[in-house]
Amino acid sequence: MLNDELLERYSRQILLPEIDLVGQENIRRASVLVVGCGGLGSMVALFLAGAGVGNLTLVDADSVELSNLHRQLAFRESDINQPKAQALKNQLLSLNSEITVTSALRRFGDDAKSDAELLSDVDIVIDATDNLASRHAIERLTRDAQKPWIMGAATRLLGQIAAFSQSRAEGCYQCLAPSEDDSRGFDCRNEGILGPVIGVIAAWQAQDALMFLSGQPLEWGVLRIYDAAQQRVDRLTVTPREGCHTS
Ligand SMILES: [Zn+2]
Repeated sequence: MLNDELLERYSRQILLPEIDLVGQENIRRASVLVVGCGGLGSMVALFLAGAGVGNLTLVDADSVELSNLHRQLAFRESDINQPKAQALKNQLLSLNSEITVTSALRRFGDDAKSDAELLSDVDIVIDATDNLASRHAIERLTRDAQKPWIMGAATRLLGQIAAFSQSRAEGCYQCLAPSEDDSRGFDCRNEGILGPVIGVIAAWQAQDALMFLSGQPLEWGVLRIYDAAQQRVDRLTVTPREGCHTS
């Protein structure tokens, strides 16, 4: 049960009929794995921590760099050279000391046993990586573990988000993007990124996660493409590819 302090803390979202007390309790009991603690991961994690998600696990092998700070707003200048997963954990706990945050300073997808352990108790996984190979690894591992996940990507003035259910009845990430070839190099290191574009996608991922965790239905298998230059969102429904994830 939520005590008076927690009722006050989360009062503005408990007021929403879509959340209410039951949804807030669900959010408090929930566990979320955030893969990647860069632009997307740090912003998603801030929203989830603020909203009271009870258990957050952060995975990232990188350290904070000066060139991260224009968009990875969870970090401070004093965090430079510190492991991102640890620095982000510190920020989240200073925002909300009621929650539990665990950090793993490694790459998700490199150690099958450890990856399976990370996935065992989570309700949903947030993809906050920056390359296709990592996204395909998340697709495979979450499918094996029968967990839903929310992919997110942003580069230049473009962003993408899609949610995949536990069953993958709507299709999977491989149905959407069969190739793991990342040679076009559409990453922010090469192409650039505007901070708020990352923020839009991160906020959207956090919103989808909170709706799911509170018990609201989610639209699975719909790729939403945000074009900041044109100020528009296009939608593409994923179609299950024969012989893909169901084979
Ligand atoms: Zn598939």
